[in-house]
Amino acid sequence: MHSVLSPALTGIYDRAVARSTGEPEFHQALREVLESIAPVVERHPEYLETGVVEGLVEPERQIMFRVPWVDDQGTVHVNRGYRVQYNSALGPYKGGLRFHPSVNLGIIKFLGFEQIFKNALTGQGIGGAKGGSDFDPHGRSNSEIMRFCQSFMSELYRHLGEHTDVPAGDIGVGAREIGFLFGQYRRLTNRHESGMFTGKGVLWGGAQVRTEATGYGAVYFMEEMLATKNEGIEGKTAIVSGSGNVAIYAIEKIQQLGGRAITASDSSGYIVDEAGIDVELLKQVKEVERGRVSDYVSRRPGSRLITDGRVWDVPAQLAFPSATQNELLLSDAQRLIANGVIAVSEGANMPTTPDAVELLQEAGVLFAPGKAANAGGVATSALEMSQNASRQRWDFSQSEDRLHSIMKDVHRSAYEAAEHYGAPGNYVVGANAAGFRRVADAMIAQGLI
Ligand code: GLU
Repeated sequence: MHSVLSPALTGIYDRAVARSTGEPEFHQALREVLESIAPVVERHPEYLETGVVEGLVEPERQIMFRVPWVDDQGTVHVNRGYRVQYNSALGPYKGGLRFHPSVNLGIIKFLGFEQIFKNALTGQGIGGAKGGSDFDPHGRSNSEIMRFCQSFMSELYRHLGEHTDVPAGDIGVGAREIGFLFGQYRRLTNRHESGMFTGKGVLWGGAQVRTEATGYGAVYFMEEMLATKNEGIEGKTAIVSGSGNVAIYAIEKIQQLGGRAITASDSSGYIVDEAGIDVELLKQVKEVERGRVSDYVSRRPGSRLITDGRVWDVPAQLAFPSATQNELLLSDAQRLIANGVIAVSEGANMPTTPDAVELLQEAGVLFAPGKAANAGGVATSALEMSQNASRQRWDFSQSEDRLHSIMKDVHRSAYEAAEHYGAPGNYVVGANAAGFRRVADAMIAQGLI
């Protein structure tokens, strides 16, 4: 299945794996990056000779901590918190926080590792990091969420700062949680340090379009990919998985561009709405009521809920996996191809398994990896940081224009790097190679290794 790595890269892979037993998602991400950069290090042996690849695969710092909190019944719970500060050669550590029961060190490491290359691709001067907790916010009251966030930040605050490490949201961490986390930081430090967190409310330093940015960006990337084949989004049917921030705003942008997004999903199943998802109703159900997609169906005639199938079974030309890692399997890729899919843009981080990616690419399906396709979120976070630093506030259309042009640049960088390294049309190789070169060159220049 996998292509063969050179002895030098195999050594780097084996040593990193030996240091990270029980972290399969990290090994998966690592393997993909090392395979992609093989043609780069072949042409530029200095990346191996300086030890920069060996250094890049090991996080600069990994923080793990206890998070005790009390629920509404008075029972004490203890969760584990994480922050992996992976690489700061290009700028302060930057990446989201994920609160989900599946979180462990391997998940946070894979996300942090991916974030390095994604952030480099945006050209915005941000390093790579990720953090979170195995805390399950589902079904928790507002005050339980607040107490958890305050306890989490009581430890993490000492490792953060606008020039040090700047978190944001991810799965399970949205505007509400960011408010509680930021509030606790402000209380502990006596500093209203706007640039130490992104995804803030627009009233108190947040940027316009940050909420929409990841989903919109994944659609803009799709638009650029399709344009290379003289195709567009207008008139095409799209399937989207997930129903969080990324999925909702991917659906919104698909519809704005004349496409028809017909699915969304969560742990209750997936919904199909052939008329096109009513995005205002979906926002009401998920963002306002914090409900399940099943609540959408009871209020939308003609839509249906499927609880025992795969969202990838629904025929469409475009697919946007926007829920979580490894949600699109080999068998799903086979089904997508049989149903005539022409392009896949990953709104989530690493949602497609390696064998599924390979099959899609072999079948000639345009495939955008998350680290390129979903880079619009973190790119807009960097715009939020620059507005905070200069005490400016940009309006919605100015912010959206910036996002759009960054996504065009991300696409161009990945596209050109793929051509340059002998893999035309392979955005996995292109994104990894282009991101890697920026970080590696900065590491060499700074004499880190
Ligand atoms: N969690 C998002 C990502 O995966 C955003 C990170 C950020 O804005 O720092 O890229």
